[in-house]
Amino acid sequence: MDLYGIGYSNIRLPNDSSSYIYTYNPRINTFPEEVFVHEFLHSLERNLQERNYEIPELHDYEKYGYKEEGLVGLKQWYGDYMNCNIKSSDGKLVGLDSAVYKMTPPANSDFKYNIDMNFNNEPQNILDEVKNLFTAISRLFGIK
Ligand SMILES: [Zn+2]
Repeated sequence: MDLYGIGYSNIRLPNDSSSYIYTYNPRINTFPEEVFVHEFLHSLERNLQERNYEIPELHDYEKYGYKEEGLVGLKQWYGDYMNCNIKSSDGKLVGLDSAVYKMTPPANSDFKYNIDMNFNNEPQNILDEVKNLFTAISRLFGIK
């Protein structure tokens, strides 16, 4: 996702422990951990894309001949993606460049105009979102 030009991943879990999301059901939730792996890999994917690395899109597994499989979902794709072990059409091995594992997370000093974001106060509708945006911009320019 993109928020004010900054990419981030957000996984919401319901407070209700009886929610189906916490159930291992091969028909519904084949590989629940995949959500976390998937979103984390989007962060790594973006880190490399922003540095102009040529890597496969995380969603392009079918283009490389991978399929979602029963209990394990896209486990093979994610493993090969992380290990740069995907065979491309020209015979090269592609995936995440190992440089991504040595990159440090961005710090405030990496941004010219940094804005504190309150992720606990997520907008619930478009009006909240617009209000949050104006609040952030006002803070940026010191307007009260
Ligand atoms: Zn995705």
